[in-house]
Amino acid sequence: TERTLSIIKPDATRRNLTGKINAKFEEAGLRIVAQKRIHLSEAQAGKFYEVHKDRPFYGELVEFMASEPVVVQVLEGEGAIAKNREVMGATNPANADEGTIRKEFALSMGENSVHGSDAPETAAQEIAYFFSGLELV
Ligand code: ATP
Ligand code: MG
Repeated sequence: TERTLSIIKPDATRRNLTGKINAKFEEAGLRIVAQKRIHLSEAQAGKFYEVHKDRPFYGELVEFMASEPVVVQVLEGEGAIAKNREVMGATNPANADEGTIRKEFALSMGENSVHGSDAPETAAQEIAYFFSGLELV
């Protein structure tokens, strides 16, 4: 089975939506195998989203991700990476399918409630960024 890194972003933790979002993951057959609430510094958020450092929205994205606590989690299941992205919906909530997390909860393209890894290599890197081996069974 595959694992992926998920983040419940500040717009969602602020609105107390962690349980509702986790229910969507579980209904889709994803298991939450690790989870913690943390408050990223701008340096930590900047490093996490380094791949976007030359994009015009990078500064805004980093500031947002460091603005309030997030919930970082590891989701497990068959095809977890693709399945998670399906449950999340399109980056821009205006384009997200009915029933997806971003359709139901996202506020905007930037404040879009969740992050999910996009490939096996990034999933492995992102899980290791937030979780030690001892935290993963
Ligand atoms: P994520 O990586 O957070 O799971 P994604 O893979 O759907 O989202 P990316 O293209 O990787 O989308 O962009 C990373 C994040 O940057 C988006 O989730 C969104 O919060 C923000 N973002 C992307 N494009 C824009 C934009 N045009 N304006 C503002 N914010 C944006
Ligand atoms: Mg992405």
